[in-house]
Amino acid sequence: MACFKILGSCSGTEPMPGRHHTGIVLSAGDRNYFFDAGENTSHTAYTQGVDLTLTRAVFISHVHYDHIGGLMGLFWTIVKLHSRYGANLADDAVKLFIPETEVWTHTYAILKGTEGGFRHPFGIEVAAPSLGTFYQDENLSVTAFESHHMPRGEEGQIRSFSYRIETEGKIAVFSGDVKSMEDLIPVVGDGCDLLLCETGHHAVQDVCEFAATHNVKRLVFVHHGREILEERPTVKEALDACPVPLCFACDGMDVAF
Ligand SMILES: [Zn+2]
Ligand SMILES: [Zn+2]
Repeated sequence: MACFKILGSCSGTEPMPGRHHTGIVLSAGDRNYFFDAGENTSHTAYTQGVDLTLTRAVFISHVHYDHIGGLMGLFWTIVKLHSRYGANLADDAVKLFIPETEVWTHTYAILKGTEGGFRHPFGIEVAAPSLGTFYQDENLSVTAFESHHMPRGEEGQIRSFSYRIETEGKIAVFSGDVKSMEDLIPVVGDGCDLLLCETGHHAVQDVCEFAATHNVKRLVFVHHGREILEERPTVKEALDACPVPLCFACDGMDVAF
């Protein structure tokens, strides 16, 4: 059975006790796939028992810091596991999909300046996601949709994405950050088994209404904004009224799928 582990559940706030910025890992088949990589991604994953040497791909929704602050640490830690424990990566390369590849170029330059010149005995294949089903292997497929959370670049390039993930005959949607719930209409399509939805930019009630009217079978709130973090009364009201099974993610939580 595939399983999502929430590595960081917080939006781009100042540091919060017990919560870190957004990061999720999906274990499917015998490989791990990361969706965003906020500040503490590799630390939480490793200390919670995720085998980082089984990492096959990393999918970034957009390059805001709360979604990539742990990208450098993630690759550094995989290399560290190689050199310290002789733990070989299960594949020859890790694929990194990141909307603005030059951000990785700078990140990589910093890594090269660390100990040992960051020699990595496996490939790091970097590309921007493209609209449609842009990734597929024996465990899952990933389809990218444009999010309007960030405006397009000067040359029209898309800078923020939501992902529809299909694995073991089920469909999960990872929202990334979205401008409005309308961004998720094509992503959810006829429905989905699981919606991992950001609530940093939307009222909890709006997300619940969207889920109830778009055939979402289960809702997990991720990327919490202040409404949730401050446990405002509106959150409890929305929760009580929501007809879709839901939960609020916390760091380290498993979501069986
Ligand atoms: Zn964010
Ligand atoms: Zn953002």
